[in-house]
Amino acid sequence: MEKFIPLSIPNFEGNEKKYVNDALDQGWVSTGGAYITKLEQEMAKFLHVENVAACQSGTSALHMSLVEAGVKPGDVVLVPPLTFIAAVNPVKYQFATPVFIDCDDSFCLDPVKLRSFCEEECEWDGVELKYNGALVKALVVVHVFGNMADMESILDTAEKYNLKVIEDATEALGTKYTEGRYAGKYAGTIGDYGCFSFNGNKIITTGGGGAVTARESATVDHIRFLSTQAKTDPHYYIHDEIGYNYRMTNLQAALGVAQMEELPEFIKRKQRNYDLYKAEFEGFKYGKLMPFRDGTDSNKWFYSIEIDREHIKATMREIITTLEKDKIQTRAIWGLINEQKPYEGEETYRLEKAPYYADRILNIPSSTQITGEEIKYVADKVKQLLEELANG
Ligand SMILES: *Cc1c(COP(=O)(O)O)cnc(C)c1O
Repeated sequence: MEKFIPLSIPNFEGNEKKYVNDALDQGWVSTGGAYITKLEQEMAKFLHVENVAACQSGTSALHMSLVEAGVKPGDVVLVPPLTFIAAVNPVKYQFATPVFIDCDDSFCLDPVKLRSFCEEECEWDGVELKYNGALVKALVVVHVFGNMADMESILDTAEKYNLKVIEDATEALGTKYTEGRYAGKYAGTIGDYGCFSFNGNKIITTGGGGAVTARESATVDHIRFLSTQAKTDPHYYIHDEIGYNYRMTNLQAALGVAQMEELPEFIKRKQRNYDLYKAEFEGFKYGKLMPFRDGTDSNKWFYSIEIDREHIKATMREIITTLEKDKIQTRAIWGLINEQKPYEGEETYRLEKAPYYADRILNIPSSTQITGEEIKYVADKVKQLLEELANG
């Protein structure tokens, strides 16, 4: 292969330049402008929700959702150990306490362990759930790599124990249920709040950016208000709450509107490319292409190979650097958040699958531009390497 095959890069095949130039020509480059509203409307239409607020990043979307959910210093928020750290850091911004609950085989929050944590480790007085005396206020559920978490079971528990559900649907924009109680519902539109990021490696990008939706339209309006410094008067600088500078800019939104036009095509390509990889890894002994949840139509954003650790002892670094020499960019799944320095000493609950997968998952190239030929090349090289490592 002549060409380097990147892991996940943006795709600007549509109207990106046209709309960004248009925003520039109009002079609307900052946090006002028609593209911001347009992006919000397009997202709302796509997700079948009433209201979406565009903001500055996925992290700010999550932070404002926690604020809106009323998470206060000292409250407990249940969080995932195996995901990007941005999903958990906002809990600390609120001076709340994270408790890490294990994932299941979808890499998302394990609903059975969530349930048993609430039932066995906490006290429930019919109104509030308490853990070691602290109010358990909310949970953050991340739809990892485009995989839908088991929302039916998770919401059953959340409703029973009065927990606010913040969905981090960043990686699952476009993933929806096809069966069950939430058939037709998109990731990010099932819990109380849905957060999205449009950073560079996501399925659509605005360079940096994000969005929030919520069950109640008025909640989204309030989040939009918080994102613009909570200014209450059109003429005077009057502020009755602590706001944030978290609004998206019109330049970013111009990029986003173009990307939204292409989103259905991007999803199609991700799904097709997944099927191509699937055919290549069918029956392969030393690495398994991880599936997506049954009863859902996933955007198949990111592809994961589970390395056979019974036969392969090489570190992820060795695997990644060897594949780099073949011009293939891969990566290891995240390190556990509860093991990162700022989270040392935080409570965890029955972590088994998270450490298991943290040591085994390799992500392989998934950009929308990847060709069938490149997929075959990647699969051949990965299989060849894993075979050598297993037998050598
Ligand atoms: C990328 C990502 C974020 C962070 O979004 P930013 O826009 O970079 O702040 C949060 N959560 C998940 C699951 C992500 O993949």
